[in-house]
Amino acid sequence: MKVLVAVKRVVDAYVKIRVKSDETGIETANVKMSMNPFCEIAIEEAVRLKEKGAVSEIIAVSVGPQQTQETLRTALALGADRAIQIVTDEAIESLAVAKILKAIVDKETPEMVILGKQAIDTDNNQTGQMLAALLDWPQATYASEVTINDSELTVIREIDGGLETISMSLPAILTTDLRLNEPRFASLPNIMKAKRKPLESITPEDLGVDILPRVEVLKTTAPADREAGIIVESVAELVDKLKNEAKVIS
Ligand code: AMP
Repeated sequence: MKVLVAVKRVVDAYVKIRVKSDETGIETANVKMSMNPFCEIAIEEAVRLKEKGAVSEIIAVSVGPQQTQETLRTALALGADRAIQIVTDEAIESLAVAKILKAIVDKETPEMVILGKQAIDTDNNQTGQMLAALLDWPQATYASEVTINDSELTVIREIDGGLETISMSLPAILTTDLRLNEPRFASLPNIMKAKRKPLESITPEDLGVDILPRVEVLKTTAPADREAGIIVESVAELVDKLKNEAKVIS
């Protein structure tokens, strides 16, 4: 079975985010960019399913500027078989990504698309759900355990206060939660091998997809600075401050 995995290039999870001085967005110039952590989990799950014999081919897909090639090469080093890059310099929102992924699904006919539950830059948590709606496929979001038996997908999902087990027929959409797996690191030989794996570059126009934004970001602001804390001398002083200054206890 063929699996498509959507991977997004985002500001590295360990970089401190800075808002642009004109408040139009976050600073990405000269900032370390990496694969979205939930997309790493998505690639890892596809690779594990391939190792178990449930998956035969893994295609990594990314939408974004030319540099998304680096993200796709990482996906190839982690175990994807080939990659498709959809090149655009436009700011692209979830609906447009979902439409592009649908066009790729129509062309490639995979039996499953795995996405991260959310991209850590915009925190939209929408693309997988929108793609499921556009394709009219069942969806299993926030997966923390995945099993495939013949053409049935069983998924344990993390929900408020517990776990939910659901099953559905393939083809289906899967989105990954944090505890699904622990992604491997790419080994040096696999990084070298990834350079020779096929990577196709196309544009949204080649797919006939309109990526015009439907949402306008009015402004982006940083959270208010926190006041510096103080070290108290004793428990009595702490209780006094909580009672009389912060007024959180009586
Ligand atoms: P979001 O809905 O934007 O929070 O993103 C959820 C997931 O959709 C990500 O973890 C990716 O798997 C996929 N995705 C979102 N944007 C892109 C993109 N530009 N290229 C490839 N995949 C994407």
